[in-house]
Amino acid sequence: MEDLFGNPIDDKTSIPIFADVILPVPIPWMFTYMVPREMEPIIGIGFRVIVQFGTRKILTGIVGKIHQKPPKEYDAKPLLELLDNQPMVNPLQIKFWHWIADYYCCHIGEVMNAALPSGMKLNSESRLQLNPTFQDSGSDYPIDEREKIILDHLETEGELTFEACGKILELKSAHHIIKSLVAKEMVLVYEQLKEKFTPKIENRIRLSALFVSDKSALEALFAKLESKPKQEEIILKYLQQVPVYKDEKINHEGLDKKLLTESGISVNSLRTLIKNGIFEEFTKIISRFENLPTNPDTLSLSPVQEEALNQIKEAYKEKQTVLLHGITGSGKTSLYIKLVQEVMDSGSQVLLLLPEIALTTQMVNRLTKVFGNKMGVFHSKYSDNERVEVWQGVIQGRFQFVVGVRSAVFLPFDSLGLIIIDEEHETSYKQHDPAPRYHARDTAIMLAYLHQSKVLLGSATPSFESYYNARQKKYGLVELNLRYGEAQLPHFHMADILADKKKNLLKLDTTRLLREKIQEALNNQEQVLIFQNRRGYAPYINCEDCSWVLECDHCDVSLTYHQFGEEMRCHYCGFKQKVPTSCPACGSNNLVTVGQGTEKIEENLAMLFPEARIARMDLDTTRSKYGYQNLLENFSAGNVDILVGTQMITKGLDFGNVTVVGIVDADRLLYFPDFRSGERAFQQITQVAGRAGRRQKTGNVIIQSRKPDHPIYQSILSGDYRNFYLQEMGERQQFFYPPLVKNIKITSKHKEFKTAETAALHLKNLLQAIPVKKIILGPEKGLIGKIKNQYIFELLIKLDKNGQAPPIFKEHLKLVLEELAAAKAFKSVRFIIDVDPV
Ligand code: ADP
Ligand code: ZN
Ligand code: ZN
Repeated sequence: MEDLFGNPIDDKTSIPIFADVILPVPIPWMFTYMVPREMEPIIGIGFRVIVQFGTRKILTGIVGKIHQKPPKEYDAKPLLELLDNQPMVNPLQIKFWHWIADYYCCHIGEVMNAALPSGMKLNSESRLQLNPTFQDSGSDYPIDEREKIILDHLETEGELTFEACGKILELKSAHHIIKSLVAKEMVLVYEQLKEKFTPKIENRIRLSALFVSDKSALEALFAKLESKPKQEEIILKYLQQVPVYKDEKINHEGLDKKLLTESGISVNSLRTLIKNGIFEEFTKIISRFENLPTNPDTLSLSPVQEEALNQIKEAYKEKQTVLLHGITGSGKTSLYIKLVQEVMDSGSQVLLLLPEIALTTQMVNRLTKVFGNKMGVFHSKYSDNERVEVWQGVIQGRFQFVVGVRSAVFLPFDSLGLIIIDEEHETSYKQHDPAPRYHARDTAIMLAYLHQSKVLLGSATPSFESYYNARQKKYGLVELNLRYGEAQLPHFHMADILADKKKNLLKLDTTRLLREKIQEALNNQEQVLIFQNRRGYAPYINCEDCSWVLECDHCDVSLTYHQFGEEMRCHYCGFKQKVPTSCPACGSNNLVTVGQGTEKIEENLAMLFPEARIARMDLDTTRSKYGYQNLLENFSAGNVDILVGTQMITKGLDFGNVTVVGIVDADRLLYFPDFRSGERAFQQITQVAGRAGRRQKTGNVIIQSRKPDHPIYQSILSGDYRNFYLQEMGERQQFFYPPLVKNIKITSKHKEFKTAETAALHLKNLLQAIPVKKIILGPEKGLIGKIKNQYIFELLIKLDKNGQAPPIFKEHLKLVLEELAAAKAFKSVRFIIDVDPV
């Protein structure tokens, strides 16, 4: 008997072995399959396999465990296929997935779904197309009969699903044939719904084999071409770039044809050389990622930065995790660069996590200049193909360093030495939907633990969670309190909206102080950022006579008026309708807009400063793949004087010419009904303020408020984070809030109000019986009681964060939910578990 690669296998041992396979289905366990003998010598944890699931489904799964125990409840079916000859996922990753499933109370299959780029999860929906290179120039490989049938079908039909291939060939699974076609580069596989895979192709040329293997042939050729200098030049140029006389093998890869044609050679002569069989032309699928030269870094740290770096290293002697609390503009990135370099030099891998929006900007450009193409970039706006390329780049060792968004924690690292989480306080690190509802910072710390790697958390406004851990001495704490270079922190000014109103100084919702500072900046050709965390024109449309408000048909929220497009939109479900001209309740025509979104502010500013060039940055102006980048480039090039934006403008921007930052309605941040509103307001205001005065010129920050005496503004103005933290923590202690306790939020959703409520109540009763100390609040109607026609009720569970309460509670919770799922009355209710909600 032989294995898949034709090596003999010993027939004598006859104990069957089994594989537990993780499948992309919402079921909390793995499924056991029998391993066919010929797979035995190869298969292991992390291999992709094709299995039959139920009677009809064919799925790709990942081997999670190999053992010899047959399943008790069912007969194990055999694995149908082994997809690769090496694991795609390593054992550390499998451990990591299990941890996430346990900690965030979700299914391992859901974790796998989040972890693998969809191109790696071939399923019956995956599709095939002919490989364009094969279509153009054929192939040297032999084609067997069944492969021919598939190729012929593709020729006429353009594409086929995996399932269709099976049907055509009358096979349960055609995967081995598809695999062989892929290996021979005759077909490409892509996912339905995703854009069709358009490989990037390069036309290349190489010398015909004859001239490479036989030196005298090449010499004879040169002799013959003496009278044809143009052709001779081309061959010489080729040999310069591809010195085949030193190493024959490099001829096979040849040279990008463009490189030759762009170097000024005669295109006609090249054509002749190809026609005469001296060169041959071929195509190659190349990487989407450009080949960037690495630029050996010349960055030198300032003395304070140097000192901070030493403190970090010192702290690592005892602690796994260090929090770097460095004010805006202190140069945290420079410290990251130094650390990344050191860890890379030691041979380990590095992961740098960034909030989504920061990843398209300056930060990546700065890092690219230093690390070139040794650095992989993992972005959520990437196509699936690009993500698969990064995944494979990590396995092959091409990317020793990856900078990426939260899902980059799932890349197949095997020897991480350092994980850096920049702007660690960012809430966008938490995934809200679908499960796993994980927090990238917290999972990264777990990942680091599995790798025995270090973690650096960086922020100017740390999350209370991290600061608490640092003060508890669980993490090291390093502070950087000086801006880099000449730059000073900006001056803060409170602008009293009500006082201005009384004195008739308020114009178009803009205080005199803000107007003056903007005008000053404009006069000096400096730039201005205006922050308002609300997009659209106005959050309400309201009847002045009967106070009717236009609400969404499907959600419990008012519709936002968008001037652009003249429509009313729901920001929760996307519902749109025309702007009403009269009140449907009383018929009055006195409809007014209330409140101000970014559109309205843009309009106001245009009236106040008609000479200024104004742009707006929010979700509506940055939807396209490059929308955000284009706006930033425009701003950076000085084509915009005033940029109005939502929290998008608060993240990581580093522009030297910004001297004024205005916050239109700071109070809105404060009065959001959440125990974290103070913390968030502090963070957002400090972050946006930090965009001002980052070089020589001093910045000014104007905070418009109706309550300028609110103590939180005093803390922000003085920049005293520690003091603010201590004050707020008093309250959190009193009312049992994180980080002092652990929160789990459970939401019940149903299209009937009553069902959603009763389900939550019933669940609460079951949870009360769990034998750990806890507080359960609710059920309460969600902050928004209905979204997309689903009524929402919430339970909040508070647990003692130390000790065994959380794991015991979660263990029981699992059983309770299984019980509920089986109860007829609540079958159609969705329960959503959010551990550590933010
Ligand atoms: P932070 O992320 O802490 O807000 P940055 O890393 O963006 O700060 O640094 C602020 C500015 O100072 C950037 O323009 C950066 O290029 C510059 N800078 C910081 N450290 C150095 C250094 N050691 N050498 C040269 N420029 C530096
Ligand atoms: Zn009315
Ligand atoms: Zn809606």
